[in-house]
Amino acid sequence: MNKNWTPENLAWVAGLLEGEGCFSTSKRTKTGGGYQLSITCNMTDEDVLIRLHNILGVGSVRGPYKKGKEHHKPQWCFTIRRMEDAKEVMLAIRPWMLSRRQARIDELLALEEARALSIKKTHCKNGHEYTEENTYMWNNIRYCKKCRAAANDRRRQQEVTPNGTS
Ligand SMILES: [Zn+2]
Repeated sequence: MNKNWTPENLAWVAGLLEGEGCFSTSKRTKTGGGYQLSITCNMTDEDVLIRLHNILGVGSVRGPYKKGKEHHKPQWCFTIRRMEDAKEVMLAIRPWMLSRRQARIDELLALEEARALSIKKTHCKNGHEYTEENTYMWNNIRYCKKCRAAANDRRRQQEVTPNGTS
């Protein structure tokens, strides 16, 4: 699919996603660990989402979904699940967003950067290797189990050290 990323089109996309879009990280379940950037936009207007899809050339439109009460119109859902695509779109429309949305995009991209960096490193700052057994994930970032165990030991020792008279 072709991308039609002219400034006018990107400005239109930014306006739509500013109001209706959702930028988020979702847990990566299949590849085990880490998070994934995504963009979603739910609407009752299929034609608007098809235009969005035609402009961006990435992601997909699904629907209709019947939700809630009888008189509610069916919903359509546009999603970009490929992280590289989501990242590229976020950067492309960022200049047209209000500062609150820009901050949100920056926050998500920084999170992704931290994840990418932490995956590149093979050893923790104390030189322990990030093997599968020695690694745990928390908030998107890898941690070293040996260092965590050492920190726990230190804490325990401080707790048992007599503190004044008893
Ligand atoms: Zn370590």
